[in-house]
Amino acid sequence: MSIEEMPEVPVLMVGNFLGESKPASLKEYLEPLVNELNELMETGIVIANKLITVRVWAFIADSPARAFIKGVAYFNHKNGCQKCTVEGKFNKTARVMCFPNIDAPPRTHENFRNCNYGEHHRETTPLIKLLHFDIIKNVIIADLLHLIDFGVTRTSINGWKSGKLGSGPKWSKETIDRINNILDKVEIPLEFHRKLRSIEDTGFWKASEFNMFLNYASFIVLKEVLTKEQYEHFMLYFSAIRLFPSDSYKEHWPAAHIMLKQFVVQYGTIYGEHRITSNVHNLLHVFEDVNKFGPLPKFSSYRYEAKLQDVGKTLRNGHKVLVQTANRISEQIPTRSSSSENSPFPYIESKSNGVVAHVNSIITLYPSKQSNWFLTHDDYIVQYTSAKMEGSVMYISGKAFSEIDESTTYHSSRWMIDMFEANMCHLSTNEM
Ligand SMILES: [Zn+2]
Repeated sequence: MSIEEMPEVPVLMVGNFLGESKPASLKEYLEPLVNELNELMETGIVIANKLITVRVWAFIADSPARAFIKGVAYFNHKNGCQKCTVEGKFNKTARVMCFPNIDAPPRTHENFRNCNYGEHHRETTPLIKLLHFDIIKNVIIADLLHLIDFGVTRTSINGWKSGKLGSGPKWSKETIDRINNILDKVEIPLEFHRKLRSIEDTGFWKASEFNMFLNYASFIVLKEVLTKEQYEHFMLYFSAIRLFPSDSYKEHWPAAHIMLKQFVVQYGTIYGEHRITSNVHNLLHVFEDVNKFGPLPKFSSYRYEAKLQDVGKTLRNGHKVLVQTANRISEQIPTRSSSSENSPFPYIESKSNGVVAHVNSIITLYPSKQSNWFLTHDDYIVQYTSAKMEGSVMYISGKAFSEIDESTTYHSSRWMIDMFEANMCHLSTNEM
């Protein structure tokens, strides 16, 4: 669990289930949680003499877990979409369920509660009794980890690579070498702790590596290997997914939604209707979630997956796992992350290679080539060199480009906002 208004508070574990498979009874699994939450929502909770109102903001889970907790059909069922009433078509040749219709009416909480959705319902879920909760709108599908990075991005790359997506052959040794050469040259920001691994190894890539590939390499690499039609189609997805992770592009989110709609329709015409799987179809519902909950990273499952991994690492052996987990968790005292309280922004930090500028909770500038570029409000692209504090004001120095172009090498979309090209020979020698 995390607290929406306090993103700096670490993920907290509120329940744990042990079994060799998922719980046999949905009621047994969820009812205690629903009852406790309802009690908290009715009475509130007093912390430090202050009455705090409790509401459930959203359930964040991967697609099978969402279907499980809602007691509905799984993603590969013809009534498997949790947001709309699209009817899937089973493609006998490819043996997959696909969802070519893009305009099906949305599902509603009212109809769900009245069990009006036929085969969509598998069993009654205790979640239906949760107060102040809309079972359609408050269960998100636009999860950056499962839907985007480990979903559509991974499937597309693996499909092109193996030749299963599109009409071309699988990527040759020469193509793979060419891609690896480019990947080697891409500078990845320091927040990512590793470089991009070789494209042969996508089978071992983590979701975050697909995210790195999408954001920092895909538009260069894929231009080399896709057809013009496939590349322009891919850039619809790329552009939309670059707009959704930030509030600063909020005014462009409706346009990003239209791009994703176009992407889904063209997925069918370029790669075949049977390729519009549940993940591709779900791109149609990303805007709805982003519009309600905020930018994609705000409600992605990355931090919960990381918490699960951390808990797994603390287990000493396979004996009494539940007791061990409970003990380890009770030993950990949740603390706020140090940067939020102990170090009010902005502040600087001296390192052996220069000064690190902590501008705010999102922007940190490092004196190294991966994370030293920034864009000013008046559209200067600046290479950061140093920073100093005078009182509570931070002064940042850097060198700006005298000439920049809106990139046209990699796209021709006006929605590729804040993506520029520049030549290093136009970088000023004087600091500003
Ligand atoms: Zn749908």
